[in-house]
Order: sequence, then C-alpha cells, then structure tokens
Amino acid sequence: MNSLGIRCIFHGNLAELLPKKYRDNEDIYPLNRRAAIKDIIESLSIPHTEVGKIEKDGEQTTFHHIGVAGEMFHIYPFSSDTPVLQPTILRPQPFSSISFMADDTVRKLRRNMRMAGLNTAAAPHKQLTEIAISATRKQRILVSRNRDLLKCKDVVFGQLVRSGDHVLQLREVFCRYTFAERPTPFSRCLECNNVLQDVKKEEILDQLQPLTRKYYFTFKKCPGCAKIYWHGSHLEKMQRILDSAVS
Ligand SMILES: [Zn+2]
Repeated sequence: MNSLGIRCIFHGNLAELLPKKYRDNEDIYPLNRRAAIKDIIESLSIPHTEVGKIEKDGEQTTFHHIGVAGEMFHIYPFSSDTPVLQPTILRPQPFSSISFMADDTVRKLRRNMRMAGLNTAAAPHKQLTEIAISATRKQRILVSRNRDLLKCKDVVFGQLVRSGDHVLQLREVFCRYTFAERPTPFSRCLECNNVLQDVKKEEILDQLQPLTRKYYFTFKKCPGCAKIYWHGSHLEKMQRILDSAVS
C-alpha cells in the first residue's frame, strides 16, 4: 500500500459521487496534511450527510478520527437502516422526528414532498452556513442538490438528491428513511407546508370558480396562505406522481 495515503472502500451508491479519476478501482487517497476522516471524505466530493457508517479494522469510528497513512476504511452510505431518531457513532445527537428542509435546488421535489404528506419547510434565502444552522436548530433533514451546502459542518442530517427528475427525487427520499407512520398525502399546503384544515363550502363560495362551485363539495384550506384545495382532476395527476414514486 502507498505509505503516503489511506485506503477507502466506498460502498453502495457512494462511489458514484467520487471524482471520475477515482471511480474505477483506485481506492488509495493521498494524505498530505493532518485531517479527520470526515474532511478526507469531503475532499473526495462526498458530503458527510451521505455517509451512514465508517469502519476501520471491523470497528465503527467517528467522523473525527484523524487519518494515518496506511489505514484502511470501509465507508457505507446513509440508507433506510441508518437511524435518524436514535444515536449512532457518527451522529450521537439524534433528531426527535423525521421532518425536512428543502432548498431552491429542489423546488419541485419540495412540492412533491408536501403533496406526499412529508413535513418540508423551505430553506431560508441566506448564506449556506445560515441555512445549515437553521436546519439543524429546527431538527430538519436538509434536502438539496448542492454539495457545498451539505458539506457545511453545522449540518447533522441531510440528503444529496441525485436525480434530476422530480418523481425519481421523491422516490430517493422515500427510499432513504423508515417512517414510523406512513405520511398522509394531500394533507399539507404545497405552497407553505402548513397542515390543511377542513372548511365548509359556504364559507368560501365567493372564492370558487363557477364549475368548482357546481361540482365539488369537500374543501380544505391552508391556515397560512388561505389557499383552497379540493379533489379535482389535478389530484389524479398528483396521485400518479405519488404512485410511481412510492411504488
Ligand atoms: Zn399555504
């Protein structure tokens, strides 16, 4: 083994994130400074949020382990087996529930997640570090396509969305977590994430188009932005997106 480097075996879908020159069989990485394994992994373009477990000599190790030339690590991806609600070696402080914050790199996904019933706040329009701090303070898993955002040290839980297709993106999210209770589709406002409330038709008659007024009887209203929802034809389209993402 190259005495100036460490050896990392990237398992599962982590290898696809590596720079091209490392993707094919090359698993020895230069070690030219004192660095924690987390920094070494991130220098290879993999945000720490994508890592679920690190093993050295069969034992799990933390992100803070200082790499020594000649060492060998097995790096496993974050998956549906990786706990969010219980402490792990990598993340000793778990979250108390599974909820999300999605930035503007995944706007359509953000709407899809709300449609699927996942509690998904919009990231504030601020500097990356401030977004990272906000997500962790609010105990939200930060969802993004921006690797630099997910590399911020203040991010504890995050997800780098791989696909460019918003239906496949929703599938990525569902594949990655184990939900104690299945989220309830169409229970949240697509615009602002608030939980929708039942509203009587007579209270909103003046806000309905003539055909909607004629053919629909059950309505929900967002307590935040006052948007009205009903089971119209647009719902079938959304249901199809949901079916193909969650199947
Ligand atoms: Zn709303």
